[in-house]
Amino acid sequence: MTKFTKLLAASILGSAMLSACQPASETKTPVQDVAKKVTKKAQSTDWKYVGEYGAANWGTMSDKFSTCATGKLQSPFNITADISADLPALGLNYNAVPMKVINNGHTIQADQTGGGQLVVDGTTYNLLQFHFHAGSEYTIDGKSYPLEVHLVHASDAGALAVVGVMFEKGAPNAELEKIWANMPATKGENVVAGQTIDVNKLLPANKQYYRFMGSLTTPPCSEGVNWHMMSTPITASQAQLDAFTAIYPMNARPLQDENNRLVVLGR
Ligand SMILES: [Zn+2]
Repeated sequence: MTKFTKLLAASILGSAMLSACQPASETKTPVQDVAKKVTKKAQSTDWKYVGEYGAANWGTMSDKFSTCATGKLQSPFNITADISADLPALGLNYNAVPMKVINNGHTIQADQTGGGQLVVDGTTYNLLQFHFHAGSEYTIDGKSYPLEVHLVHASDAGALAVVGVMFEKGAPNAELEKIWANMPATKGENVVAGQTIDVNKLLPANKQYYRFMGSLTTPPCSEGVNWHMMSTPITASQAQLDAFTAIYPMNARPLQDENNRLVVLGR
């Protein structure tokens, strides 16, 4: 938890306790004042990547998104290794699941309920979904990529972990081909009977990774996310890259400040 969120939590807790403890007649005026201020401020959670509700304004368009502006461990940023270390091998215990491809209005996402676990540092995170960004959100040593996939996981305790993989232009990816063939062009979901998705086929053979702390790259930009970015890209064909950008030409949050956080590269 950052200092800011601690302060925010303390202040929310404080005001809740205050109104709970005070007689109704005494709380009426301050509560009404606060309500007025909240309704005056423009509130929208219908975020986009550009324009009035674009990434530059996420932090102010809704009180729920304030971390997007005030956070100090925001993602993405330009990844450069601060140190190399013997990081633990990632336990990538994934299995194929029935195909369910979702266009959620921000990206193409594959549901991965029952898709297995990431085990790292003794913590087990269940795979929930993976989704794509074009171009890449992170850059590695200043280099951007045409496409990036994020494998999103949560532990039973609610901790989040993401495994990121970059795509560069090259040979087509067979798993991507299956997903692309079934992705809805507009908002909606497509459950495909008799077909499965295997996330193992979206991982590079070389499992070396960068480890660092960061955030969700979409509102509410929650922090405390354990990031694992593969240092080796996989490939997608130009036609595959074009098929995604025909639906989402640009769905990447701009680079955020690294703020001196530690980036460790496995040996
Ligand atoms: Zn993402």
